[in-house]
Amino acid sequence: MTRIAVTGAAGRMGGRIITLITETEGLSVTGAVEMAGHPRLGEDAGYIAGCGDLGVAITDSLEEALADSDVLIDFTWPEVTIANAVVCEKLGKGLVVGTTGLKGEQRGIIEAVAKTIPVVFAPNMSVGVNVCFKLLKDIAQTLGDGFDVEIVELHHNKKKDSPSGTAVRMGEIVADALDRDYDQVANYHREGMCGERTSEEIGMQTVRGGDIVGEHTVYFIGMGERIELTHRAMSRDMFARGAIRAAGWLGDKPAGLYDMQDVLGLN
Ligand code: NAD
Repeated sequence: MTRIAVTGAAGRMGGRIITLITETEGLSVTGAVEMAGHPRLGEDAGYIAGCGDLGVAITDSLEEALADSDVLIDFTWPEVTIANAVVCEKLGKGLVVGTTGLKGEQRGIIEAVAKTIPVVFAPNMSVGVNVCFKLLKDIAQTLGDGFDVEIVELHHNKKKDSPSGTAVRMGEIVADALDRDYDQVANYHREGMCGERTSEEIGMQTVRGGDIVGEHTVYFIGMGERIELTHRAMSRDMFARGAIRAAGWLGDKPAGLYDMQDVLGLN
């Protein structure tokens, strides 16, 4: 049985992670943490998540939540994640980090902590997206330079950043596989008399509207044929499921920095 503590327990991801852990054999929720002063402190984490009482009260003490836990799943905010990583290192607990937006120095702290404890760190925990990452590398390497690559991503109308981090990662993977520098070949904008497409460039287009959870298509367009690799997200649960899979995988892994490719055995 892997015992899991969850930070951001009253957050969007934290709530789904808690619920889905209760549906997963071999895993249990043994700690739930929210920020000091949060109105849900002291309430049952399962009740707040909507899956029924678990007998685990939400606390603002990570040390307390980790006392009977093996692994922490953290989907919070960068500065919180960094502080939590240091606590996990001190207590010798495994860590799954889903928080995005960590700056270089903050990533450095995660790397340093991973010298002492096992850490899974992935800005996109979806199993399907990570399988797509692997497929993209294989497709690009096999096709070589003869196919034009275009990436189109769709998200809801509240998304603030464009293109999505996942679309950029897809572009980087294809560029690497084709021995190109992504920053040099990414083309985010075409308008007016911008000239013919170069064979090297990777086009990057975004669509925003409604409640689309997230959709990414990578086109490999050749002469007389075309491959389209599409991933469609139906709900945010795919991220929670990936994080839970990572926590179960972490088990007794040695200290080190891992990503979802490691968890899925794709590296
Ligand atoms: P959210 O704002 O709903 O939840 C964050 C929670 O963290 C809040 O409830 C907040 O009160 C809590 N929190 C703040 N300080 C805390 C502390 N000191 N201790 C414990 N909890 C604390 O946000 P969200 O939508 O759940 O997303 C959280 C993070 O996960 C974001 O960085 C988001 O980009 C990322 N995310 C990653 C993936 C992935 O696949 N890696 C997928 C979805 C979201």
